[in-house]
Amino acid sequence: MRCLAALLLLLPSAHCAWEGTAAELAAEIRAAGLDRDECYRVREVSFAKEDLRFYFTEGYLAFGKPVDGRRRSAIFLGEVEAGDAEVLVFPPTRSERLALSRAVKSPNLNEHFKLAVMVFSDDTYEVLSKQILESGEPRKSPEMGVLMEQDWNSTIGNLASSFAIRLVEDALTSADPSTGFFFATVRGDQLGNFDILYDPQRPEQVVIGRVGERGSVAYFDTWTSFEARSFRNKSRTTIAAAFRLSNYRLEALLEPDLTLKVTTKVTLTPLESGRRVFELFLSPRMRLAAASVSGAPAEYLQRESLRESLLRDGDAAFLLRSPLPLERGKGYEVEFQAEGVVIQSSGNNVYFVGARDNWYPNLPVQFATYEVRFHYPYDLDLVVPGEVVEEGREGDFRFTRRRIQTPVRFLGFNLGDYEQVSLSRGPYRIEVVANKKVEPALGALPRTGISVPMLRRVWDPASRRTVVITVPVEIVSPPAGPTGQLKELASEIATAFEFMAGRFGPPPLRNLTVSPIPGTFGQGFPGLVYLSTVSYLRPQDRPTAASGEYQQTFYSDILAAHEVAHQWWGNAVSSQGAQNAWLMEALANYSALLYLEKRRGVRALDTVLASYRKRLLTETSEDRTQESAGPIVWGGRLLSSQAPDAWQAIVYEKGSWIIHMLRRRMGDERFFAMLSEAMKRYNRVTLSTEQFRLLAAKYMPPGSPDATLETFFQNWVYATGIPTLQLQSSIRGKAPSWTITGKVTQSGVDEEFTAWVPIEIQFKTGRPVVHWVRTDSEPAGFSVTVKQAPVKVALDPSDSILAVRK
Ligand SMILES: [Zn+2]
Repeated sequence: MRCLAALLLLLPSAHCAWEGTAAELAAEIRAAGLDRDECYRVREVSFAKEDLRFYFTEGYLAFGKPVDGRRRSAIFLGEVEAGDAEVLVFPPTRSERLALSRAVKSPNLNEHFKLAVMVFSDDTYEVLSKQILESGEPRKSPEMGVLMEQDWNSTIGNLASSFAIRLVEDALTSADPSTGFFFATVRGDQLGNFDILYDPQRPEQVVIGRVGERGSVAYFDTWTSFEARSFRNKSRTTIAAAFRLSNYRLEALLEPDLTLKVTTKVTLTPLESGRRVFELFLSPRMRLAAASVSGAPAEYLQRESLRESLLRDGDAAFLLRSPLPLERGKGYEVEFQAEGVVIQSSGNNVYFVGARDNWYPNLPVQFATYEVRFHYPYDLDLVVPGEVVEEGREGDFRFTRRRIQTPVRFLGFNLGDYEQVSLSRGPYRIEVVANKKVEPALGALPRTGISVPMLRRVWDPASRRTVVITVPVEIVSPPAGPTGQLKELASEIATAFEFMAGRFGPPPLRNLTVSPIPGTFGQGFPGLVYLSTVSYLRPQDRPTAASGEYQQTFYSDILAAHEVAHQWWGNAVSSQGAQNAWLMEALANYSALLYLEKRRGVRALDTVLASYRKRLLTETSEDRTQESAGPIVWGGRLLSSQAPDAWQAIVYEKGSWIIHMLRRRMGDERFFAMLSEAMKRYNRVTLSTEQFRLLAAKYMPPGSPDATLETFFQNWVYATGIPTLQLQSSIRGKAPSWTITGKVTQSGVDEEFTAWVPIEIQFKTGRPVVHWVRTDSEPAGFSVTVKQAPVKVALDPSDSILAVRK
């Protein structure tokens, strides 16, 4: 293992001398427990880590046993007389102070506690032990150490196990403790248990919150999350990617019992020299069995436990450790063998593919070419994107070999007992496959009855003759099942695809397969869309839970087109990081709305946008609107136990409104030109929120108010609020000059909120005059002079602003 000499001076330990395997190191770290000989009675010991300040006023501080020369855990226990400790955090921005006060009723975190369990890969031990030494005579307390070992070793072990991949990665990659993380779980006197993380490898290095539960689902409820001080003042920058992956070659074998065996060959190119350890992602349900680098066996470390850890990227992260340091810029052939069960049967030959984006080792945003050979039971149908190189049958198996020469982000697959329809549209081929039967979870489909008037001959006893009368007859139509609408569905999807190709340019792949997934969602991968099995059914055949108007629109008109749009937004252009994740969802969803508008007119678009507004204004259990849960740039942080629906409402629906408002500000011609430039400029590159703002600003009509869109983004993207707007106006004057004066009053939002809203002055003939008014906490006055007699003065009559008009 390569060591930097300068760092050896700082750490006179055997830190770089780890001779064992990564797995052995992980096991030792997990088993280390507390060190009774490093337990101290402490008084007035404090330490700061960026924006975090800890004060151990009175109590015991015990450290974990060293492994590979480093101590990685500590416990503070204040169960003594006058025992106390305190943590102080002052979030740096107004919005974070607001977020924190919502969670803990105070804009700053200032909490006393008597217990904190800490795990770290940075210099926390060195800093604290130096403080203890300097605070006078260190008072060791091995007796208390023994008691603390008994009480807390298993907790420390569990926590170390949750962070095993990261602890081992930091131990094996770098001796520089400043890149390490610090995690503390604190039992606060007032707030109860909560977690504090400082991790210089995250875009927002400080995260504070706790695990909350709702309806047996666990959420990490973030109280605050922000860039740490030295990153804010630019004295530090985030760590760049260490390597990239390209040229995938996959061999997959699906056994009849649904066990999947995958051999992955891929080229790994280090972006720095001398590195041996690499972090990749693989579904925890796929277990690695072997790895090699340039043909030489390599170590790998995957977490054993399948428990979700909310602060890390699930449990999918694993380590590859090359036998030798790798050179920068050189491509190495890496091979993995993995096996697992990632497909579940939902009954009736309907299957659920669980690990759709990580059934083979990969990275979250990584464009690569693929070659895949899939073997699967002959009685199943399998769909996988790519040009067919070879297909056939071998015994009880079928196989297909595919090639994707345009670099794409993921390779997905799906399977079932399918019926299929293929359509060609220009250079594109769209294939839609449906399950032949509906899965039991969707319930027995209702047999829908309609009453039809029929002519019947009947004997009329009064007239004693046969007469013809009309009687209503109940005709019961059998449910159509998933294949009943297949042709219509395929034609709809093909038309949506063609529409979007016309608007946004060619997609990454010319062929698209749309396939069913049992569930209430969809997902759009390159060349492959997973579409909820509900969308395959006629509206009248859908389960009751999916029968409301909002749900019907979602399954019938939006979901398929949204996933199709991800061919462009998400797979051609993509975004990285929580801050920017909303962009792809908002653009994909708005693309689906554009297609809806094209088919059914602007009224249909407005109706959907109005339903989104209604949902955003719906109150959560805490008497707050869904929309107020947080700004759209919070991304996954919007998922919380307090407002479980807010994430979807904000990212998808407020996101659609944001794109819609930009369109109305620009006009259609400029708006579509902007989208097509986004597609060209950011093809296979990530697009950030700020890049998107700058791009959009370029397409604002000359002379527009807020031409840089800074106010727009500040209010709609980086903050929350849906204003209620009221217009009061009066008209004075006579030919040839009339003056309209008035004011727009804004309510229901913060004092800081401002929006540019259009006032439309309409005439008997000719185009209306549009005057933009900037709203504020005070009523915004305006005065406009026109040459014709106005017939009406209206506030945003075309509903181009996400607001409530009074
Ligand atoms: Zn989506």
